Amino acid sequence: MKTKIETDLKKLVEKAADFHGHLGPFLVIGVKMGKLAKETLNTKEKIISEVTAKTPLLTPFSCILDGIQATTNCTVGNQKLKIENSQKEIAARFKLQNSDDSLEATINPKVIEDIVNKLSSGVSNEELAWEIAAMPENQLFKINRKC
Ligand SMILES: [Zn+2]
Repeated sequence: MKTKIETDLKKLVEKAADFHGHLGPFLVIGVKMGKLAKETLNTKEKIISEVTAKTPLLTPFSCILDGIQATTNCTVGNQKLKIENSQKEIAARFKLQNSDDSLEATINPKVIEDIVNKLSSGVSNEELAWEIAAMPENQLFKINRKC
């Protein structure tokens, strides 16, 4: 499984896991959200100035927040990461500085259900994390781009 994952993503996941304290599927989802936003919004010239993340405020779901913080430099500390409590939906909206350009990624509810089921049936966090890492973005997210 690990061999299918591109080196860039693998490095980002490892960096995020180091920051977060452990590796898990929702952390990887946060990393993939941040990476997708940076690539789609073409952040070479501009920076992501604000992220609004919606998630239930409990683990493992809230682990996405650290994946986002590790990849975008939008953090709780610098006030660029806003967090909204949500009952079920998990999503993040990324905005570019001085621009109306934004991207919203909402996790496919089936993916969340599948992770929860696998975790409760004893599949390890690490195994699920790499499974999510290998999953294509269009299966993982509903993507809404505004520019
Ligand atoms: Zn976690």
